[in-house]
Order: sequence, then C-alpha cells, then structure tokens
Amino acid sequence: MQAPRYPQPALHIDGRWVTRASGGERAVLNPADGGVLAMLPLAGADEIRAAADAAARGWPAWRDTLANERCNIVRRAAEAMRQRSEAIAHTLTLEQGKPLAEAKREVGLSADIIDFQAEEAKRLYGRIVPPRVAGILSQSVLRQPVGPVAAFTPWNFPANLPARKLGSALAAGCSVVIKPAEETPGTCMAIVQCFLDAGVPPLALNMVCGDPPLVSSTLIAHEAIRKASFTGSVAVGKQLGVLCAERVKRFTAELGGHAPVIVCADADLPFALKASLAAKFRNAGQVCASPIRFYVHRSLHDAWAEQFTRGAQALRLGPGLDAQTQMGPLAHERRLHEMARFVADARDQGARVLCGGERVARPGFFFAPTVIAQAPPSALVQRLEPFGPIALLEPFDTLDEAIAKANALPYALGAYAFTRDLQTAHRLGHEIEAGMVGINHFGVSQPEMPFGGWKESGIGHEMGAEGLLHYTEIKTITVGVPQ
Ligand code: NAD
Repeated sequence: MQAPRYPQPALHIDGRWVTRASGGERAVLNPADGGVLAMLPLAGADEIRAAADAAARGWPAWRDTLANERCNIVRRAAEAMRQRSEAIAHTLTLEQGKPLAEAKREVGLSADIIDFQAEEAKRLYGRIVPPRVAGILSQSVLRQPVGPVAAFTPWNFPANLPARKLGSALAAGCSVVIKPAEETPGTCMAIVQCFLDAGVPPLALNMVCGDPPLVSSTLIAHEAIRKASFTGSVAVGKQLGVLCAERVKRFTAELGGHAPVIVCADADLPFALKASLAAKFRNAGQVCASPIRFYVHRSLHDAWAEQFTRGAQALRLGPGLDAQTQMGPLAHERRLHEMARFVADARDQGARVLCGGERVARPGFFFAPTVIAQAPPSALVQRLEPFGPIALLEPFDTLDEAIAKANALPYALGAYAFTRDLQTAHRLGHEIEAGMVGINHFGVSQPEMPFGGWKESGIGHEMGAEGLLHYTEIKTITVGVPQ
C-alpha cells in the first residue's frame, strides 16, 4: 500500500477551509531530514477576527444542542479518528518526527480522551439547595458553557493536545478557535475534520495559524472570546495570562515541568531503569511531564549511572517512519541550539557529560541521548525545562534531602519515585509538590485523570471530570412566589 501523503495545509475560518490567507505562508518541515513538506497559509488580523466572529455566530446553536446529542456527535468524532488513525499518525510523524508506533498510540489515546469528555457532557450535574427564606420555591446551581474559546496547542503532541482542548470545549457546549503550532498543523486539521464530519456546526469550530503573538493577542482581545486555554512554555503562558487578566477572561494553562525522579535504596533497580529509559527518551524528551532530574540513592547511584548511560547509548535513532527507530529527531531546529546551550553551560559549571551532549551527524534535527552528572543548581539545565533528550543525575542520602531537592523548583507538573516500601510511597505521594505523582510508573497522563500543574507549571486541569468543568461557568437560579 502506498504511504499517505502529507496533506495540503489549510485554515478553517467561517465555515470553510482556505488555502490562502493574508498573513503570507511558511514552510512545514520534516524534522527527520529538514525537507519541506508543504506550505502553510498564515492568517492576518482580519482573518483571525473573522474566525472569532464565526465562533460567536456558531455558538448559540451548539450551546443549545441537547447534552445527549452533543455527546453523540463528539463521540462520532472520536470514532472517525480511530478509523483514520493510520493516515493521521503518518501525518503526525512526518511533521513532528516521533516514531510511528508512538504516533499511533497518541492518536488512539486522543480518541479515548475525546470519548471520555463526551460522556462527561451528560454528567454536568448541578444541585438544588434548600432555601433559607420563605417564598423561595427553588434554588439551583447550574453549569453552563463559558462561550467561544481560544485554544493554543504546541507541537510536541499534535493530536493529544488539540484532542484535550477540542474534546472538552465542544462537549461542554463551547465554540472554538484553535491555533495549533505552525510546525504541526496537519494533525490538527485532520482532527478538526473529524469533528466537522461528525456533525459539529462548521461555524462553531475554527482553526487558524499565523504569527503566534498576533493570533493570541487578537483572539484574546476579541469581545466574543470568553476564555483562553494554552499549552506551552511558562514564558508565553505568563504573557497570555496577563492578556486574559486585563480583560478578566477565563484562562487555563499547562506550562511544562522539570520532573524529579526519586530512586530509593529499596527500589527494584532493573524495573526502575527500564521504565526510566523508556519514559525519558519517549518523544525525544519533548514531553512536559518527562522525567529530568534523577535523584538516586547513593547505594545505587554508580550502578544506575553505568546502566542508564549504556541504555541511552544503545537507543536506535532514526526517522519516525522507520520501524526500527526508538527515538526520532527533535521537532525543530531551535531545539538543537537549546540542547547545545544547556550542555555547554553545564560543562562550564563543572558537570560531567556521561554520554551524548551533541547533535548527531546526519540530516535532520537529531540530538544524541544525553546524561549529565553533577550539574550544579546554578546550571541552566537545572533551572529551566530542557524539553529534550537530557537526563540529570545526582546521588542523595536521606529521603528528606531528596524531597527538598524535588520541591526546590518553581515547576511542579509531574514527579516520580521508585520504592518497594508502602509507607515511603505514601510519604512521597503526600510530600512531593506536583500536580501528578507517579510511584513505580510514569503513566500519569490518562483520559480519566485530571492533568495539570502546581506553581508555575499551570492553572487548571485537562482530562478527567475536571477537564470539562473548566469550560463552564456556574450560574445560580432562584425562583420565588409572589407573597
Ligand atoms: P515557544 O514558546 O516559542 O513555542 C511553544 C508553543 O507556543 C508553540 O506552539 C508556539 O506556536 C506557541 N506560542 C509561542 N508564542 C506564542 C504567543 N505569543 N501566543 C500564542 N502561542 C504562542 O517555544 P518552542 O521553542 O517552540 O518550545 C520551547 C519551549 O516551549 C520548551 O522549552 C517548553 O518549555 C515549552 N513547551 C511546552 C510544552 C508543554 O507541553 N507544556 C509543549 C511544547 C513546548
């Protein structure tokens, strides 16, 4: 069978797909070889506003669609994604670089996320509160959709992150303008098409790409937009938070992390090593909840350093479409320069690079799996999210010390630990400051579970029952009788 081709990029504005726009165009690259896949049209300010206008006009009909019917439509979109998963995963790998098997898992999980949110639409319960004064017949607390939403998603999970935002917003009865990353528009286009084919009114679902600051400032300033939801860096999240705060618009944000892993003296070493290698280098480390700081008990430290380094060096790097590939390229060239900067700075500050540390000499944006020991707290890589295939390694002596180090950063998204002791597991679960703590595993991102960060890692949650609630407003209605 012939491999599917990369789609012609287009924007969905005011109920139709357009392949030309006033903001010019930019190339979508294949990170496995640097080649141009296609040209992406970029929306100018008028087209961005037109998308928000359309979302405003499309909202009432979608808002007033009965919850049961909305659920059915959104579930049909998930089913369409499953049926088209081969083609969507292929597009995803071409534009983002991750191995095809990872891309297929991502598409399947994205459909499950959409399904779960669709079901939750039927359970947007309110409550009846007993009145405290005479003459009041009923007091009810309801949840209603917040209104047209501006959604911003990055390039590391081109299916999963749009699925989280579109699934929840549409299931809740909101209309949407989504801006996927300009590096990875093809996967989002395919998902938008699944929702449209399933029966979401075309005006209620818009997709634009463009100059990111222009898109976000135009959408958030637009009077129709009631809420923004952003996934990306802390720096950009803060900027969008300010734009929303100035207009008192609702805002949720998932802003990355710097996840610690505490490997206790009683950990099952082979198990912890295998799980850690797989989690660290999944998607070349471009995962917000990726394990980064490995604090290993001193009794295991040297064995860990030797075996983890050997495992990292043995990984097969290559294009995501090659079935043998275990780790693909970084998603774009800027990341290569960032990785080199982190490594050079750590070296300058006395760290030891146990393996990797440099770009791989082949076409595309490949960076070698890297393990760095003894990077001081002042090193950039200890303070900023590397968002790439870099693991840090440090010994610890007491659990108090490990917990204090785990909690030392302003990031608090994912955190992990390995122990066979139930009491230690409970203590770590309670004392580590993070939105999600995984003990003896890394699978903290599940459709049924709320995903979100503490501290600078974000505001609010996606997925789980909480995911839908962030796209609603609370309203109280009291009905009295004339006395
Ligand atoms: P970046 O901050 O320029 O871009 C990240 C994403 O934000 C992209 O999708 C981009 O289009 C979007 N963006 C940038 N400026 C924006 C704006 N003003 N308004 C709206 N959207 C905007 O950085 P990058 O080089 O692409 O990625 C680097 C950093 O981004 C990483 O170090 C990581 O911290 C963060 N990141 C986080 C996640 C996550 O899942 N939390 C995902 C991707 C990137």
